[in-house]
Amino acid sequence: MSHRTISQNTKQILAKYKLGLKKSLGQNFLTDDRVLERIVDAADLDEQAGVIEIGPGIGALTERLSERAKKVVAVELDQRLIPVLREIFEKQSNIEVIHGDALKVDFHEIISENFGECNSIHVVANLPYYVTSPILIRLLEERLPLQNIVIMIQKEVADRLVAKPGTKDYGSLSVLVQYYTETSLVTKVPSHVFVPRPNVDSAVVKLSRRPEPAVNVSNEGLFFKIVRASFAQRRKTLLNTLHSQLFSHLAKTDVAEFLTQAGIDPQRRGETLHLAEFAVLTEAWERFSQGR
Ligand code: SAM
Repeated sequence: MSHRTISQNTKQILAKYKLGLKKSLGQNFLTDDRVLERIVDAADLDEQAGVIEIGPGIGALTERLSERAKKVVAVELDQRLIPVLREIFEKQSNIEVIHGDALKVDFHEIISENFGECNSIHVVANLPYYVTSPILIRLLEERLPLQNIVIMIQKEVADRLVAKPGTKDYGSLSVLVQYYTETSLVTKVPSHVFVPRPNVDSAVVKLSRRPEPAVNVSNEGLFFKIVRASFAQRRKTLLNTLHSQLFSHLAKTDVAEFLTQAGIDPQRRGETLHLAEFAVLTEAWERFSQGR
């Protein structure tokens, strides 16, 4: 039996429900079944998997996810889409549509209320680009019990998530994400597969949660403070940027001494440091500040 997917019916569904799309909510809907398939494949779902989808739109990805997972909870901010989604998925008992803001909903509660019988939990989403970073940071910092996160995002942001030290894309977001997860680029996605067509290219990225963070630090807050300060003025040396951003209460010579004691050349730029070196700096600062 041939069956038209939601993505193939995007224009008809938008017309039927008289839905104008809101640019302000990042509403660019995916209309390519092969791309949808690649996203779902990358998540490694099985019949015991629980999936949180952020921003289901009219449900193109939701439909695919529900065929492969035990349960899908789709969180959509646009109130107009809630009755549409509920009608489209009326007969699918493994889809729960929640009206909410992914920046505010209680993910721990969503997980405990919906995925009790699931063996693994995943986030899979074609994310609204204007809130990609805050949503991602939330998902990681809240230490949700996720096996992986597979997201379609703006290509430039994808490059930052997988960037290696010493490259122009490497920054504090790269370190944060790589601290908690192993990142890989699944595929690039051209803009013409969306309705409406966005101005930017996109990419799908997979983030697999590490059992333990990539490096061991005794003070995570300090680790991230040092990381942010190190990237705050990218053209400056580590010595200058750390002095002005974090250690302005010290003489510059003391900051230089601290870096040297840590085995990091003060003349290097922050963007050349690997995660392990940021960890070394964090531990060295704890020792250095205690000895003063
Ligand atoms: N999943 C659909 C697809 O792949 O075609 C739609 C993706 S569209 C890029 C992003 C969706 O996220 C829109 O439906 C938008 O209304 C929704 N959205 C925007 N901001 C949101 C937020 N803060 N929380 C939840 N959903 C949001």
